[in-house]
Amino acid sequence: MAALCRGRHRWKGLKGLLVFTRNFTGRYDYDLVVIGGGSGGLACSKEAAQLGQKVAVLDYVEPTAKGTKWALGGTCVNVGCIPKKLMHQAALLGTAIKDAKKYGWQMPETVHHDWATMAEAVQNHVRSLNWGHRVQLQDKKVKYLNLKGSMLDEHTVRGLSKAGKETILTAKNIVIATGGRPKYPTQIPGAVEHGITSDDIFWLKRAPGKTLVVGASYVALECAGFLTGIGLDTTVMVRSVALRGFDQQMAGLVTDYMEAYGTRFMWRSVPKRVDKLSSGTLQVTWSDTETGREHKDTYDSVLWAVGRAPETKALGLDKLGVQLNKQSGKILVGPDESTSVPNVYAFGDISEGRPELTPTAIKAGKLLAHRLVGHSADLMNYDSVATTVFTPLEYGCVGLSEEEAERRHGKDGIESEDTCW
Ligand code: FAD
Repeated sequence: MAALCRGRHRWKGLKGLLVFTRNFTGRYDYDLVVIGGGSGGLACSKEAAQLGQKVAVLDYVEPTAKGTKWALGGTCVNVGCIPKKLMHQAALLGTAIKDAKKYGWQMPETVHHDWATMAEAVQNHVRSLNWGHRVQLQDKKVKYLNLKGSMLDEHTVRGLSKAGKETILTAKNIVIATGGRPKYPTQIPGAVEHGITSDDIFWLKRAPGKTLVVGASYVALECAGFLTGIGLDTTVMVRSVALRGFDQQMAGLVTDYMEAYGTRFMWRSVPKRVDKLSSGTLQVTWSDTETGREHKDTYDSVLWAVGRAPETKALGLDKLGVQLNKQSGKILVGPDESTSVPNVYAFGDISEGRPELTPTAIKAGKLLAHRLVGHSADLMNYDSVATTVFTPLEYGCVGLSEEEAERRHGKDGIESEDTCW
């Protein structure tokens, strides 16, 4: 009888339509269990709940090697877009203050930036977003579980608490949206012990000081940009090209501007080791890939921005037969975000071939929720997604880079124009 009552049918109004949704709780605990409470997982779980589904979302943050940890909301909220944009804004304000004098603003001769004040404000803002997400889940009747999820079968998730307590949840459908984490170059002695990543920088209580940023991805250049902008001695170590995948002419404008802005660049260089000196400073040894010569310098902080790894290891996907791309480690998905195992879906940064961006993860999550409920068959369109690099010279783009257009269509198959506004 209890099972019958639990397996009730409900009528729910939606945008003027009467929609029939069946709760599968007679057979499973939930209609949908989402593993990962970041940009995508939260959007998908909230949307599904609003469509009448019984939903649980598991989110768990493994602390960094430095012990940094954060709360609900995933990469964008805690260690990505949001704190990054706020620190970028802090740097832009510094530039504006310098310019302001020439526009007649009376300023003291020197102005200083205080990291602790900025960090506290940024961290408090992030905490308010963490809280906001919890409240929204509660309001929308999504069960939030601070558990590390893994898959036991295509309908069963095992959640593990920090204290090691196990919770088993069953669901008709399971969605994996566990995102990714920064990689450490573990082959470099001292890299893990003495380095930090973008998962730490926004949560530092004290200024990182003279900083070496290793890598030339957008994450590397954005971090180097705001560190330079707030007045820190900042160097970027680049093995080959900056902003790989972006239009290289534009990448050149971005790095030229940064050099003029005060960021140092060490081109064609690769780190060899990091040693902590008795003074507490970090001695970095690197080699020039053209001459093979070794160099050394000391820094207060070394920030590795050498790529991100998908969070699949703890999920038990191999036992279940969920297919991964062997090179990237990401989950192979179809256009409807389905994996190779029925009833198991994946999207966002964890899935192969998707842009690693928050708006696409949110939109894809909402559309997936609609398809799972049977409300629509609309697929996410991942073509021509616009993106911005928040370096001191902000750069926005959409569509193919010139290099990619040439690769696809040949040099004679495209027209390109330098346009100045
Ligand atoms: P995530 O947001 O990473 O969420 C995954 C969640 O799952 C995390 O909370 C994780 O702890 C949790 N998790 C992992 N494993 C488990 C498990 N086994 N059980 C339970 N929970 C688990 N994007 C933009 O669009 N614009 C930007 O300006 C931008 N700036 C960025 C700046 C930086 C420095 C970085 C690192 C990223 C930035 N991004 C930006 C990218 C954006 O943050 C990601 O694309 C987005 O967060 C991906 O969302 P997601 O839902 O796939 O994963």
